[in-house]
Amino acid sequence: MPPRLWPSSFSHFWSPKIIRASPSTPLHHSLLPRTSVRLASQRGPQRTQYNRFGNIQILYSLWRTSPNFRYGVGAVGLGSGGFYYYNLEQVPVSGRRRFNCISTAREERLGESGYRRVIQQYGRDILPPDHPHSRMVNKVLGRLIPAAGLERQKWDVKVIDDPEEKNAFVLPGGKVFVFSGILPICAGEDGLAAVLGHEIAHNVAHHTCEKMSQMAFLIPFALLLTWTLGISVQDSGFILDVALERPGSRKMESEADYIGLLMMAQACYDPSLAVGVWERMAKEEKYAPPQILSTHPTSKNRMKVIQEWLPQAQQKRAESQCGIMTGYVDEFQSAFEHGDDGFW
Ligand SMILES: [Zn+2]
Repeated sequence: MPPRLWPSSFSHFWSPKIIRASPSTPLHHSLLPRTSVRLASQRGPQRTQYNRFGNIQILYSLWRTSPNFRYGVGAVGLGSGGFYYYNLEQVPVSGRRRFNCISTAREERLGESGYRRVIQQYGRDILPPDHPHSRMVNKVLGRLIPAAGLERQKWDVKVIDDPEEKNAFVLPGGKVFVFSGILPICAGEDGLAAVLGHEIAHNVAHHTCEKMSQMAFLIPFALLLTWTLGISVQDSGFILDVALERPGSRKMESEADYIGLLMMAQACYDPSLAVGVWERMAKEEKYAPPQILSTHPTSKNRMKVIQEWLPQAQQKRAESQCGIMTGYVDEFQSAFEHGDDGFW
């Protein structure tokens, strides 16, 4: 079986539990990074024969001598370029242009099968709906969903009783999983809104579709790289993973931070409290790999960028209906402190 060129999950590697928990398709956006890069030299003895650059010479010679080869390359290039251009679209909220050839219906079907697998694995550890943790997650989600504009999805919340696991994820189609271990890091509803906002943002932006779409180009590209450089499929997969997939993943994570921050602000939560979540998360990280080898930005970078976005998020909060309420509360508090007759 050819090796998978794309990650099986978005989990962080220092927790074997999470790796075990991950669905086998790239539809699972967890809060924390997957960093399990294995260097080519660490992958054991299955390395193939080395015919480095020999095949490049063959290609170059074909290009020089065969018009049919050049036409063929041109046709494939034009076809691929046209397909790519035809499937370009804009990500909601952030406005980023990206390639996506997967329908949301397909994404949701994948979410359904992922959901069944997670339930199978964690069914016994799921807290009942009337548990205080489940109620809190439901409450926060109830405020975030209208801000996300995903009311039509069949939302379902499951809190998994695992105090050691500091993670959460939302599967396509609105299936929310929160491990109880992340709740102390959230330190309240605003922090939980930051975490869930980020996870829901992956759904808003259809990042699963995007990752699957990229595979349509990456797999043939990896095979071409394998042949031209005379390296193993594992090695070409590794090169593309570090060079393209991980930077792309970090971009999506950052985008989810941005969309999630605006979402929580619109839902009347305090966006400035998102910074504290990453502060506490950074303290929990026993081993933080260099960002370049990670699927996620470092907690430190996340905090820095979130702080830069805060004025925009505060503006969003002020513009939403809760802005009126907040303004009124602030005014009331100010009047109370100064003994304004208008309120007495
Ligand atoms: Zn994420």
